[in-house]
Amino acid sequence: MHVKILGSAAGGAFPQWNCACANCSAVRGGTFRGKPRTQTQVAISEDGLLWFLLGASPDLRAQIEATPELHPRAGLRQSPITGVVLANADLDHVVGLLLLRELQPLHINATASVRRILLEDNSMFGMLQRIPNQTVWTDFKSRAQFHLCGAQGEDCAIRCEAWSLSAHYPAYVTTDRQSQLVPGEASLGFIIESPSGSRLAYMPAVPQLDNALLQQLDTCDVLLFDGTFWSDDELIRVQGSGQTARQMGHIPVETTLVKLAGVRRPRKIFLHINNTNPMLDEASPQYRQVRDAGWEVAEDGWQFDL
Ligand SMILES: [Zn+2]
Repeated sequence: MHVKILGSAAGGAFPQWNCACANCSAVRGGTFRGKPRTQTQVAISEDGLLWFLLGASPDLRAQIEATPELHPRAGLRQSPITGVVLANADLDHVVGLLLLRELQPLHINATASVRRILLEDNSMFGMLQRIPNQTVWTDFKSRAQFHLCGAQGEDCAIRCEAWSLSAHYPAYVTTDRQSQLVPGEASLGFIIESPSGSRLAYMPAVPQLDNALLQQLDTCDVLLFDGTFWSDDELIRVQGSGQTARQMGHIPVETTLVKLAGVRRPRKIFLHINNTNPMLDEASPQYRQVRDAGWEVAEDGWQFDL
């Protein structure tokens, strides 16, 4: 299975348009030891021809243009992107769907709750359903394995198991609608398995870790894991107010390093990194601590096969 990291930052990207934190300012000033990043986006493919997007970031157009494997190949209208797998309904995870609206057939996998939020409550997403079979939506449930199928229904040999990680829906979902939705369908992570049996964990938003999840992670070959915030009070210290990392659904990196210290099998990579996270700075003690603990900090353009 081919895996490409097209974007590795949290929502807002790095630098963020309205942010003058130490990291964002240093990037703009040309003094930062580290790289700017677009919003988190991963693409996977078994055969290198048909690709699935994990989420659809607001930076997707530029990310596709920066990735030759995702360019149109034959005919006037074509795309190697055949499907999308949605982990949640967060704007920085779904807005990119609207950029894929040019009548291109797509197979979109989501929980029924996420599908209802997008298609029933947010009429703009109707642009994905203007003609018959423009998009096919398939609902999946937590802890049930499903196969990734292309826009024409073809089985692409990749299996996916969703793990419910949070019952928290985005703030734009009305309380009335939230009362009709299934809590376990709000935010999920994926264990993705190739025909060869190699396993990739894609978990950009993990509010807490239990033993069942830890055991699953230790069966994987690669982790793409929540690296949003270094510490629980990071945003409050930078901004003077706001929510904690945990309130926003993200276990802090400094806690993850401890909790996953015993998970030794997989290659461990942080992604979905917020612009305030000190580990973005390769001259920082936090970056050193992450690397010493055997973790990597994802950068846009990274790719690997497993
Ligand atoms: Zn910033």
